[in-house]
Amino acid sequence: MAHVTEAELLQHVPNELYINGQWVPAADGNTLTVHDPATGKVIKTIADAGVADGLAALDAAVEAQDAWAATPPRVRGEVLRRSFELLQERKHEFALLMTLEMGKPLAEAYGEVAYGGEFLRWFSEEAVRITGRYGTNPEGTGRMIVSQHPVGPSFLITPWNFPLAMATRKIAPALAAGCTVVIKPAELTPLTTLYLVKLFEEVGLPAGVVNVLTTSTSAAVSGPIIADPRLRKLSFTGSTGVGQKLIAQSAQNVLRTSMELGGNAPFLVFEDADMDRAVEGALAAKFRNVGQACTAANRFIVHRDVAEEFARRVTEAVSDFTVGRGTETGVKIGPLINADAVTKADTLVQDALGRGATLLTGGRALERAGTFYEPTVISGVKPGSAILREEIFGPVLSIVPFDDEDDAVRIANDTEYGLVSYVFTQDLARGQRMIERLQTGMMGLNMGVVSNAAAPFGGVKQSGLGREGGTEGIHEYLSTKYTLTPDP
Ligand code: NAD
Repeated sequence: MAHVTEAELLQHVPNELYINGQWVPAADGNTLTVHDPATGKVIKTIADAGVADGLAALDAAVEAQDAWAATPPRVRGEVLRRSFELLQERKHEFALLMTLEMGKPLAEAYGEVAYGGEFLRWFSEEAVRITGRYGTNPEGTGRMIVSQHPVGPSFLITPWNFPLAMATRKIAPALAAGCTVVIKPAELTPLTTLYLVKLFEEVGLPAGVVNVLTTSTSAAVSGPIIADPRLRKLSFTGSTGVGQKLIAQSAQNVLRTSMELGGNAPFLVFEDADMDRAVEGALAAKFRNVGQACTAANRFIVHRDVAEEFARRVTEAVSDFTVGRGTETGVKIGPLINADAVTKADTLVQDALGRGATLLTGGRALERAGTFYEPTVISGVKPGSAILREEIFGPVLSIVPFDDEDDAVRIANDTEYGLVSYVFTQDLARGQRMIERLQTGMMGLNMGVVSNAAAPFGGVKQSGLGREGGTEGIHEYLSTKYTLTPDP
C-alpha cells in the first residue's frame, strides 16, 4: 500500500484491545478519541480500557508466559525478524500513521520507522545470545553455574513522542528474552501500537504473548496491574514525575523496573568547535521531533568567543524552517502534541525574556488550526530562568554563554537530570575530559543525534534506571540464577 490514503490507512488500524490473541472492545463498552494535532480533528475512535480489561490482559500474559519462555530462542528471534521485515514492507503506512496521530514531519516519521524497526532486528539477533557461565569456585570445592532466565510477565508503558520506537524498544527485548507483555501506549498516540500489534499477529505470535491496552485512565488501569504479584517487571518511558509515582507503587512487590525518564540535555560548544558541525548538530539535536524528545538539547552552553556567531548561524537556519502539517512536502516543523505543550513552551520563553534574554527569532504561538509554536531562538539566557531547569519539549533553542571549561561543566551538570549531553570540540583531550566530567548516561561527541538500537540508551540521576538497546537491553528482561554443584 505505497499510496494508501489517510482514510484507507485509518480504516486498517484496529480500534479494539488485543487480549489473549483476540481483538475485543472494552468490557464496559467505553471509547476514546484520537486527534490529529495539525488540525485538531478526531481521526479515530478506539476502545478505552478499564480495570477489568487491564487484569484480563495480565491474565493472558501470565497464562502464555511458560510456553513462550520454553519456545526456542531461535524461534522467538525469527518472529521478531519476520516482524522487522513486514514493518519494512509497511513503512509508508507506519510513517503516515505516526504523522497523523503525533504530528511529526513525514520524513522524520520514516526515520522513526527505520530506528524503531532496528530494535526488532537487533533483538531478533540477541535472542540466541543469552548465555551464562560455568566455573570452579575459588576454594576449589564446587562448580558454579550462572544462568539467565526470563523475568516473567512484563508491563510496558510508553509515551506519545515516539509512538513506534518506544514500543519496539521494549517489546523486542522482552520477547527475545522470553517474557510475555502487556503494553499500554500513551492515550494521545495509541494507533501506531495497535497497528504494530496487528503486524505481530500476522507473523504468527502466539496468543497472550503481546497484549495491548489503550486507555484514557492510565493511572486507574495501571495501578491494579502493578499491584498484582504475578507481574514481574515494569518498564516505563515517560516523565520523571510519573516515573517516581510508579517506582513508589513498584516498591510494594519489589518489582523489577526500568525507567526511561525526562532529560535536560546540555549542548556544549567550545571555542575550538568546528562551527559547521556544531550548527548542523544543534539543529538536529533541537528541532528533531519539533523538540519533543527526551534527548532534545535543552540548554545550548556556548563559549563567549563564539556565542554570537553560533547564535547568528542557527537563527539564519531556523528562520528558513517551513512550519505546517507533517504530511506537506518540505515541512520541517510540525505541530506540538497539544495546546498545553504550546502554553508550556511560550511560558518558558516569556519567563526567559522577562529575565533579560534576547529574542532572535520566533517566540509566539501560531494563529492557525492545530497546535503550532514558531521555531524560536533566544540568547543570553540568565541564570535562574525556568527554561534552564525544565524540559522545554518544543522548538525553542536557548543559548547561555560560558567563559571557561570549568564553568561549562558546572552549568551542564546543574540539573537533576542526566540523560544525554552533546559536546562540540576539536580537542581530543577535552572531549575525553567531558566523558569523565559530565553527569550523563549518553554523549554525542561532535554528533547531534545518538540513538541507535545497538547502543545502551538510558540516563543517570533523575533521568532513570536501566538501559534499552544494545547488549544491555535484553538484561532488563532477564534474571540471573546461580547454582552450586559439587565437584564432579
Ligand atoms: P507521561 O509521563 O505523562 O506519560 C507517559 C506514559 O505514562 C503514558 O502512556 C501515560 O498514559 C502514562 N501515565 C501517565 N500517568 C500515569 C500513571 N499515574 N500511572 C500509569 N501510567 C501513567 O509522559 P509523556 O508526556 O507521554 O512523555 C513525555 C515525557 O517522556 C518527557 O518527560 C520525556 O523526556 C519522556 N521520555 C523519555 C524517554 C527516555 O527514553 N528517557 C523517551 C521518550 C520520552
